Amino acid sequence: MSKTILVTGGAGFIGSNFIFYLQEKHPEDRIICVDSLTYAGNIETLKKAMEKDTLDFFRADICNRRSMDAIVKMYSPDYIVNFAAESHVDKSILNPQIFLETNIVGTSVLMDVAVKYGVEKFHQVSTDEVYGDLPLDRPDLLFTEDTPLHTSSPYSSSKAGADLLAMAYHRTYGLPITISRCSNNYGPYQFPEKLIPLMISKAIRDERLPVYGDGLNVRDWLYVKDHCKAIDDILRCGRSGEIYNVGGRNERSNIDIVRLILEYLDKPESLIEFVADRKGHDRRYAIDFSKMHGEIGWVPETGFKEGMKKTIQWYLDNDVWLQRISNGAYLRSNSEVPFK
Ligand code: NAD
Repeated sequence: MSKTILVTGGAGFIGSNFIFYLQEKHPEDRIICVDSLTYAGNIETLKKAMEKDTLDFFRADICNRRSMDAIVKMYSPDYIVNFAAESHVDKSILNPQIFLETNIVGTSVLMDVAVKYGVEKFHQVSTDEVYGDLPLDRPDLLFTEDTPLHTSSPYSSSKAGADLLAMAYHRTYGLPITISRCSNNYGPYQFPEKLIPLMISKAIRDERLPVYGDGLNVRDWLYVKDHCKAIDDILRCGRSGEIYNVGGRNERSNIDIVRLILEYLDKPESLIEFVADRKGHDRRYAIDFSKMHGEIGWVPETGFKEGMKKTIQWYLDNDVWLQRISNGAYLRSNSEVPFK
């Protein structure tokens, strides 16, 4: 049976890929995208997806109770999937306030309207960063769903706050929630402030590639389409009130990623420039996703080499998308979309 799905943050990296995934996998579903088009949102990313009349887009802020109420009332979605967030750790260190507003207050506004109109499932897209970090010399340690929350940055603290609120809405108001905590994603349409697209866009232009500290910080990388599948699977098969870890079983240090990009693009390692480390920089993240596998049958399908090849090729083929971000032209397209 077809579903009506409200996707917030759908003009960003993972949200847009989730919309493409739904359109391919469940073409009968109706999708409503809500995004306020901050600097990280790009309406041009959704141009093709919006040609389908099963997708409606609203430029609106998830903190705006009146707008969220009106949209949810109008469509009565079966599911709400909340991707909308301030997502860049460095920005959260410079200005934590907006992270608290969007990531915590915005999530609570959405859950209030989800309770009011009785949605079937509210899915909160969270992150492995809520668990803090792991030592580099203990490869046996992985984050499970029972690992205590132990955040390092205002970003991860705001995401942990939203997770706790979601659990509280489940217990207090009976809201059917699920939470996914995923490791680092990579793939098409990622804003070039994040490691992989930043390094690709700089390497293409023969610019210096800034690498934090010693470059040995380790992340577990997952191709974005695999994350989208995990969320879709949780929506349809996940148990209400449950948290699911999602990861790639693919740990790589930042410097290895940068070297791989340079090698693929046939650029010299002399472009690498080590810069002062990020404050409070987490050393290592690693995810145990056996619950996702055991309960839902999900496993990552895209190998890292294959995923990176596709990703680098995508940025080469879509250099105009990157250029319109670096010269600010995409902001003009965003500003043409009126606020709801
Ligand atoms: P992103 O920054 O690319 O996209 C965020 C989107 O949210 C943008 O389109 C932005 O315009 C929108 N937005 C921001 N504030 C809003 C508001 N107040 N109202 C409405 N829309 C708003 O982020 P992303 O990388 O796609 O991440 C999406 C979600 O996934 C986030 O919640 C993030 O915490 C989580 N996550 C990301 C990763 C990753 O590797 N990128 C990994 C795990 C979890």
